[in-house]
Amino acid sequence: MTSNILEIKNLRKSFGEDLVLQNLCLAIPEHSVKVLIGASGSGKSTLLRCVNLLEAIDDGEIFLDGEDISAFGVNPDTVRSSIGSVFQSFNLFPHLSVLENITLAPRHVHGKSKNEADAEAMELLSRFGLAEKAHQYPDLLSGGQQQRVAILRAVINRPKVLLLDEVTSALDPILIAEVLSLISELKTAGMTMMIATHEMGFARQVADELLFLHNGRICEVGDPTLLLESPKTPELQAFLAALRGAGRL
Ligand code: ADP
Ligand code: MG
Repeated sequence: MTSNILEIKNLRKSFGEDLVLQNLCLAIPEHSVKVLIGASGSGKSTLLRCVNLLEAIDDGEIFLDGEDISAFGVNPDTVRSSIGSVFQSFNLFPHLSVLENITLAPRHVHGKSKNEADAEAMELLSRFGLAEKAHQYPDLLSGGQQQRVAILRAVINRPKVLLLDEVTSALDPILIAEVLSLISELKTAGMTMMIATHEMGFARQVADELLFLHNGRICEVGDPTLLLESPKTPELQAFLAALRGAGRL
């Protein structure tokens, strides 16, 4: 038994000669939110993709709710059915309505009836102000609405952990806020999450703990306000100074 929903031990990942994640350890207790920050190329996406078994790891272990999902012979589809992931580009199916997008996995992976899946999806859409979009096709929605639908499509399966990778970086500033507020509501509802973001204000608000990645290592970790206001390492100081210089902090 463990209270950690996700636990990563000594993860190592390389692409050819390129060591992208090294000696990486982290643990995410149930209902907590960890936010990954770091320069482009620091390894945030690769880490999330390793957890989702989209990348094979070279060394280390990944435990999901106590089960070693990095062990030989684990079925990746089974693992992925209890992990929700949403990435930068909304990958909704354009030929399916919002409701059909959201109910696809509940019906075809989790064996729910159409009525049951539709009822759950409508409840979720109503809760997040999207009920009137249920029968529309994704391309009629704003980018922010599409991304919210993509997140709800992951949430409806009641994942043990939700992985969000730069979910707002393709959006206009005005649409970013509505996506971030949905994520904050999910946190309030107790969703366990690992989030990679460039939005430092959001990171500070939603993170129980901030992890700063630099060259594939967790370089600094801790309380978000402490890290952002009193960075200890020269690497984090430089990263924050660069953001500040670009007007993004
Ligand atoms: P981040 O998400 O923090 O920007 P990534 O995880 O995307 O960082 O990338 C980390 C490093 O891994 C980068 O140097 C990137 O070029 C490299 N990388 C990522 N994916 C691949 C891949 N499929 N093949 C080769 N190198 C990759
Ligand atoms: Mg990335």
